[in-house]
Amino acid sequence: MKPQQQEAKFQDFFREKRIAILGYGSQGRAHAMNLRDSGCDVVVGLRPGGRTWEQAESDGFHPVSPEFAVKGADVIAMLMPDMAQADAYRNWVEPNMKSGAAVMFAHGLNIHYKMIKPAADIDVVLVAPKGPGALVRSQFQEDRGVPCLAAVHQDATGTAREVAYGYAHGLGGTRAGVIDTTFAEETETDLFGEQAVLCGGVTELVAAGWETLVDAGYQPEVAYFECLHELKLIVDLLYEGGFARMHEFVSETAKFGDLTRGPRIVDEHVRENMKEILKEIQNGQFAQEWVEEYKAGRPNYNELLQKDMNHPIEKVGKELRAKMSWLQKQQKKRRAASEAAPQMAFCIKRY
Ligand code: NDP
Ligand code: MG
Repeated sequence: MKPQQQEAKFQDFFREKRIAILGYGSQGRAHAMNLRDSGCDVVVGLRPGGRTWEQAESDGFHPVSPEFAVKGADVIAMLMPDMAQADAYRNWVEPNMKSGAAVMFAHGLNIHYKMIKPAADIDVVLVAPKGPGALVRSQFQEDRGVPCLAAVHQDATGTAREVAYGYAHGLGGTRAGVIDTTFAEETETDLFGEQAVLCGGVTELVAAGWETLVDAGYQPEVAYFECLHELKLIVDLLYEGGFARMHEFVSETAKFGDLTRGPRIVDEHVRENMKEILKEIQNGQFAQEWVEEYKAGRPNYNELLQKDMNHPIEKVGKELRAKMSWLQKQQKKRRAASEAAPQMAFCIKRY
């Protein structure tokens, strides 16, 4: 299909569909605003008295209760925290959703692990932007977009894929590219990435490196620079141009150390652990553990989080960062963005 035809098709999608956005946090706010600017009829559904109701109002929406938003909607976007979605679906969505409508997820967890089992007469789709909500919004405003993953779990109407693409287009995702996937692939890779590499892996690597230097008698401040602060430099290079870009910029000595010592750190044993973590994700063990933990009021989670917060690297880091004037500016900017999109917690997608 030619781009003009594609555009016309998407315009039909926008004219015809009423979209209920349930949840107005990181993703919800960005989706609601981008889809509205793309010409969709957007209704925001929120718990009355919740923290984000006022935010939605000040962005020019007229929020209504989730039940009311679902009635008559063609697409219902589940954009509250993953652990709140099963109750929200049972209480608000299922009883009020019309036959032939679509329910849309930005992460496949609840469908993949069968915590939500949708009726047979509705479409079930996924559009997962690969970036935080603030970026989804800011890129859209600059006529760009954040790449999206798209998937169809259930196609009751025969048009579920078009709904997913139309939604991704309205977010600005097609400007960057939409990658077809499945709920299983999106869910399992997303969980694996944040556990093994992005959140879990990186913080443990940093902490272990820092502790090794400090235990050997080096100054905590110097260890902080070497094991945490300079990580940004490396990550920025990887982000911009992969391994090749990093190799261009670091010294010959750093490169030789990387090539000969790196594989000794992430050795066969670490790879075996990664496979085990992946297996726990694939067989549902992780999801079950998280649901049980959440239902119990997160005692273990809170304890572990506190332990992380009390790690001595946090103290030395705080002192050193206070001396870095450029960071204050960045923090202010990020704080403003997170006030606009509160409740960023739990995982990589939320910072
Ligand atoms: P948030 O945590 O930012 O959602 C906050 C919103 O959900 C608020 O409007 C809040 O309303 C509402 N909410 C909070 N708790 C409940 C509850 N118990 N019942 C009903 N509503 C509730 O969510 P995210 O935007 O981070 O995530 C939404 C979805 O998007 C998730 O599936 C996530 O995995 C996915 N995702 C997130 C990304 C990100 O960058 N954050 C990236 C890609 C996907 P109130 O004001 O009433 O508290
Ligand atoms: Mg950790």
